[in-house]
Amino acid sequence: MPRLGMGTWHMGESAAQRATEVAALREGIELGMRLIDTAEMYADGRAEEVVAEAIKGRRDDVFLVTKFYPHHASRKELVAACERSLERLGVDGIDLYLLHWRGRVPLEETVEALERLVETGKVERWGVSNFDVEDLEELVRIAGGGNVFADQVLYNPARRGIEYDLLPWCRKRGVDVMAYSPLDEGALAADRRLAGIASRLGVTASQLAIAWVLRQEGVCAIPKASRAEHVRANAKAREIRLDEATLREIDRIFPPPSRKQRLEII
Ligand code: NAP
Repeated sequence: MPRLGMGTWHMGESAAQRATEVAALREGIELGMRLIDTAEMYADGRAEEVVAEAIKGRRDDVFLVTKFYPHHASRKELVAACERSLERLGVDGIDLYLLHWRGRVPLEETVEALERLVETGKVERWGVSNFDVEDLEELVRIAGGGNVFADQVLYNPARRGIEYDLLPWCRKRGVDVMAYSPLDEGALAADRRLAGIASRLGVTASQLAIAWVLRQEGVCAIPKASRAEHVRANAKAREIRLDEATLREIDRIFPPPSRKQRLEII
């Protein structure tokens, strides 16, 4: 899975913004940010349509991630939800299909339905989102549950709770962590303390936040940027290496967790 990708939440919400959003995603693909994260929920499926336009003619260059609603996680609903996503995305298969958050459908039923989608070739691999350690523990005890490929969770310098238990758990189990809202929904771009450290390194606060997330193996980041200049800046974050002194400075502003914190969800 590519380490740096692009999010799409809020894309597709405004027809006037559509061309700009498509152009931003295309620019990102061009720059090698080859993972695109979307969801049936985003703009009621219209974000998936924006993605379809952006990847037209470049399907094989992209690692495509989409998510389904918990109320579509049943044996009966999941195939139909998947087919609607495939249709909107204009593709034959999804690289990674995620349960957006845990709902009422028993996990056994969802895993069985996901495994069937893998067998039929509609989905290459599946995972979850917003699962805390105890949810993952329960998941891997289920037949087929060990095939979970990734957990997509909130992670950025200001939201470090997962470092205490979830991140080590995923590392031990070989489950990839996808860090969503790596810029804390844009707030970190304007964080003066982070900007102070960043300017000394000759980068921006956003680039520093993304590089910080990417410093760990097994973690990928999916910043969302509708503007091409943001996409270009984010792509450069891959080149930033953070030394121990910088990491300690960031720790002083945003201390690592010293005890279990319940997984935060946006
Ligand atoms: P984010 O990526 O942390 O922040 C997005 C905001 O940051 C946008 O306003 C964007 O502006 C701005 N931005 C991006 N690059 C920038 C740069 N270089 N300099 C300054 N500002 C910059 O927030 P997010 O969209 O919440 O999270 C990212 C993705 O994670 C989502 O799009 C979605 O795909 C996924 N996600 C998943 C879940 C889940 O439950 N699984 C929850 C939340 C998010 P512009 O758009 O104007 O460029």
